[in-house]
Amino acid sequence: MSQLIALTPGEDGLDLVRFDTKTGEMNDIKKGDPEGVLVPGWIDIHIHGAFGIDFMSASTAELKELCNTLAEDGYERFLPTTVTAPVEDIKRALANLPNHPLIGGFHLEGPFISPEFPGAQPKQFIQNPPTGDSEWDEILNDKRLKVVTLAPELPGAIELIKRLTKRKVICSMGHTNATYAEAAAGHEAGMQHSTHTFNAMRGFHHREAGAAGAAMTLTPFCAELIYDRIHVSPEAALVLIQTRLVDGDVIAVSDSTMASGLEPGTKLKMWNLDCVVGEGDVRLVDGGSLAGSAVTLRNVFANLTQDFGVEVAANLCCYTPREALAITDHPEVWNLVSEETGELIETYRVE
Ligand SMILES: [Zn+2]
Repeated sequence: MSQLIALTPGEDGLDLVRFDTKTGEMNDIKKGDPEGVLVPGWIDIHIHGAFGIDFMSASTAELKELCNTLAEDGYERFLPTTVTAPVEDIKRALANLPNHPLIGGFHLEGPFISPEFPGAQPKQFIQNPPTGDSEWDEILNDKRLKVVTLAPELPGAIELIKRLTKRKVICSMGHTNATYAEAAAGHEAGMQHSTHTFNAMRGFHHREAGAAGAAMTLTPFCAELIYDRIHVSPEAALVLIQTRLVDGDVIAVSDSTMASGLEPGTKLKMWNLDCVVGEGDVRLVDGGSLAGSAVTLRNVFANLTQDFGVEVAANLCCYTPREALAITDHPEVWNLVSEETGELIETYRVE
C-alpha cells in the first residue's frame, strides 16, 4: 500500500491528509484541527463473531456483512475464532469463511484444551491433541491457520506445538491447568502466546506461579488480554501491562461473540448453549458464567485509553497484533480517536 493517512501542520492547526508515498502527492481530507490522534486500524486475533453473527454457524453472505460492519467499527484485520466442536463442524465453519481483505486467517480455539478450564467451550467435545496422522490434519495444515489455543500440559501437546511452530503457526496457551514448569516446557517447544491471560487458566500462586505466572514472565512472549473491565479487573490488567513492559508484549483481544452490539436482555443460542446479553457482557443462562465478551476492539481501545492512556491502547490494539501476524505493509485503515476517551471519531481506509 503506498498511501498514508496523516496529520500534518496546516494554516489552521493540523490538517488530516491522504499522502501518496510514491508520488509525494498530498490531498486534504479535513482542514483545521480535527482534535484527535490517528492510529492504525484495529487488529483482533481473537473474535467469535458480533452483531448477532457467529462464525460457527454463519453463512458466507452473513460473514461478508459482518466484515463490512467491523470495517465501520475501525477494524483493519481479524482472525475469526472457532470454538471446541466436532471436527466436521469446524470444517464446515471454515469452508464458509469468505475471501475478504479483513479476514487475515483463522484462530483455532480448542478442542485441545483442559477439561478443568473449559470456560464457555462445550466441554463434551474437548479432546487431547492428535499425534501422527489424524482427522484434524486438514485443519492443522490449512494455510489460513494463524493461531491455535491449546493446553500445553496435555499428552501430545508438545509434539503439536513443535509441528505448528515449524510452519509459523502461533501456539497460544489457554483454557489450561499448566503449572509454571509445564508452560515453560511448552515455551521451550515454541509456544509464545497466552490466550485471554488470567481467564480460564491456572492462576498465580507465590509458590507455584502457574500458567498466569508464566504468561507474565516467559520471554519472548505475547499475552492476550480481554479488556472489557469484566474479564480482568483494571488492577490485574495493570500488573500484566507493567510486568510485560520490560521485554514482552500484550495484545488486546475482544473475544467478542455474536452478543456484541445486541440489546441487554436479548436471549440467544450460542454454541448450543442458552445465553443472555447483559450490560457489556454475555452469560450462560445456566449458572451465569461469562460466555466470551460482548465488546469489540473499538470498545476495548476506549477502555484502555481511559484507564492507561492512548499510547498503551494503540500498542495493544494496533501495533503488537500487527507484529504478531508479521504484517509489514503500511496500515490500510487509520482511525481518528479522541486522546482522552479513546472513542472512535472517524475511520479511513487507504485507496
Ligand atoms: Zn474465545
